[in-house]
Amino acid sequence: MRKKIVAGNWKMNKSHDESVKLVNETLQLLANENIGDTIVIFSPPFTALERVGSLIHNRKNIFSAAQNCYWEKSGAYTGEISTTMIKATGASYVIIGHSERRQYFNETNEQLALKVNAVMAEGLTPIFCCGEPLDVREASKHEQLVEEQIRKGIFQLTKDEIAQVVIAYEPVWAIGTGKVATDEEAQQMHAFIRKLIATEYGNEAAENTSILYGGSCKPSNAKGLFSQPDIDGGLIGGASLVAADFVGIMKSF
Ligand code: PEP
Repeated sequence: MRKKIVAGNWKMNKSHDESVKLVNETLQLLANENIGDTIVIFSPPFTALERVGSLIHNRKNIFSAAQNCYWEKSGAYTGEISTTMIKATGASYVIIGHSERRQYFNETNEQLALKVNAVMAEGLTPIFCCGEPLDVREASKHEQLVEEQIRKGIFQLTKDEIAQVVIAYEPVWAIGTGKVATDEEAQQMHAFIRKLIATEYGNEAAENTSILYGGSCKPSNAKGLFSQPDIDGGLIGGASLVAADFVGIMKSF
């Protein structure tokens, strides 16, 4: 079944202590709210992942995620973190292919497919990011690029596996820029992605896949975005660093 999800991506922000403070503040605010069956995900830096995992342990519908992983299980890969290590922190999700990983660390679609496979093999859930830079949108090639990212990144999965994947559509020109996609632009791309899944795996798989929007999402624009038929929630950067804003977004369904 399609899940409503609000996932915070903290990127390279928050020390260990600051992470504990932010999670506690968010949980405190949430205690006074009814957000129904919405799933909440915190994605702190690796250094705080285990601690955040322990703070939310056994909380219904609240999970933690890593922001990246390596595809090998162990070995001589200095600086890398395996999915086995991530699972041991208590995390349930792994963000794969964020545009910053693609842009600054040259991650390719082929490498991302290996990461997705490793995440699935560990029994974790990938949050697979896709989205086009501004020049690609201006050239009206955004559907073509996103289709390629999706085909090469996740279409190696089986039908059963694909419905477990969470997809995040994040137009690169909207990430951290304050320039949000319009509700219509976002909906059009989400519908396009869902149709791709339906064509490859059938309607049932497509209907069961959660597709999140990411890019300057905040409490003031989340309602419009989340009311679109193919938008199942958000991957939230900047606004997830402020407890009141993050909870405000959770209340926007
Ligand atoms: C992100 O980094 O995934 C993101 C959506 O960032 P922001 O919300 O800050 O645009």
